Amino acid sequence: MFQKSIWIRLPRNVLVGHGVLEDTVTAVEELHLAGRPLIVTSPTPREVAGERVAELFAAAGRDPETIVVETASFDAVERVIDAADDADAGFLVGVGGGKPIDIAKMAADHRGQGFVSVPTAASHDGIVSGRGSVPEKDTRHSVAAEPPLAVVADTAIIADAPWRLTTAGCADIISNYTAVRDWNLARRLQNVEYSEYAGALSQMTAEMLVENADSIKPGLEESAWIVVKALVSSGVAMSIAGSSRPASGAEHLFSHRLDRLVPNAALHGHQVGVGSIITAYLQDGEQGMWREIRDALERIGAPTTAEGLSIDESTVIEALTSAHEIRDRYTILGNGMNEEAAREAARVTGVI
Ligand SMILES: [Zn+2]
Repeated sequence: MFQKSIWIRLPRNVLVGHGVLEDTVTAVEELHLAGRPLIVTSPTPREVAGERVAELFAAAGRDPETIVVETASFDAVERVIDAADDADAGFLVGVGGGKPIDIAKMAADHRGQGFVSVPTAASHDGIVSGRGSVPEKDTRHSVAAEPPLAVVADTAIIADAPWRLTTAGCADIISNYTAVRDWNLARRLQNVEYSEYAGALSQMTAEMLVENADSIKPGLEESAWIVVKALVSSGVAMSIAGSSRPASGAEHLFSHRLDRLVPNAALHGHQVGVGSIITAYLQDGEQGMWREIRDALERIGAPTTAEGLSIDESTVIEALTSAHEIRDRYTILGNGMNEEAAREAARVTGVI
C-alpha cells in the first residue's frame, strides 16, 4: 500500500556520556527553549541529578522550579500541570528512572510545551520515546505524546543506578525481537501499517545488545553506554513508526496484564523479557529462537522464570490467557490462549 505522507518527530539533541549532565543547559539553549524550566523529579533522582540540574539552570539565570512526584498517576500529572501554571514554566525537564519522565512528558504534552528527558537509570525505552503511560485504577492509560526535545543521559550516573534497573532495560530491548515479528504478523493478517525502516532498526538494536551481552556487567560504565544507546535507538524506531509497534508486541500485553493482576510485583523490563521467551515459542514453536532469547536474558542476569519475577505460576497463566484483551493490538496471541495451551507454553520454555 502506498503511503501518501509520513511525519516523523525525533529528539533533537541526544547527549550520552560521562559527565554530560553538566551540559544540560547548553543542550536546552541550543533548542531555543525560552522561559523557566520546571524540573519534575522523584526523591532519589533528585539527589543524584535533579539538584545539580537545578543549580545549573540557576547559575544560567533561568530561575528553575522543582516539583517532586512519588508515584505515577493522573493525580501526579495534574499536580505537575498546576505547578507549571503557577511557575509560568516555559518547558519541563523530567529527571529520574522513568516515572518523573513519563509524568513530565504527559504534563508537557497537555501544555503544548517541550520537555527534556534526563534519565538516571536505563530501565526502559520510555526515557527516549514519546510514549507515556500511567496506571489508573485497574487499567493503564497510554498516551502518544511528543518525544523529548533533548535527552541528557549521563553514563556516570546511570552506571551507579541499581543493577536490576539496567538488566530490565536490556530485557526491554531484547523483547524487540518478538515485537517486530508480531508487527509483521499484524501487517500480513490485518494490513496494519508497517515501516521497514523502523522494523529493521528495532531488530538491529536487539541484535546489537545480544552481541554485546558479555560486556554488560555491573559497575562498568561501558555497560550503561551500550544500554542507553540501544534505548535511544529503540525510541527512534518508535518515533519513525509513529507507534510503539516496533518495541511492543504480545510480550508487552503480557506485562501490562501482570501490572493489573499484581501491581509492582516486578520491573516492566523483566516482565516483558519473560513474556518474550513465551511469545517467541508461540511464534515459531519448540525449536525456535525462544532459547536464544532466554540465554541472552540469562547472560545479562535478567529473570527468565515466574519465580525470578516473584510472581506465582497461576498468575502467569492468567496473564497469558487474558493478555489479548488488554488493548486492540493484533499479536501472535490472536483471540487468546486457552489455559492448557498457556500452561504448556510456560512449561516447555521453563517459565513455570
Ligand atoms: Zn517496554
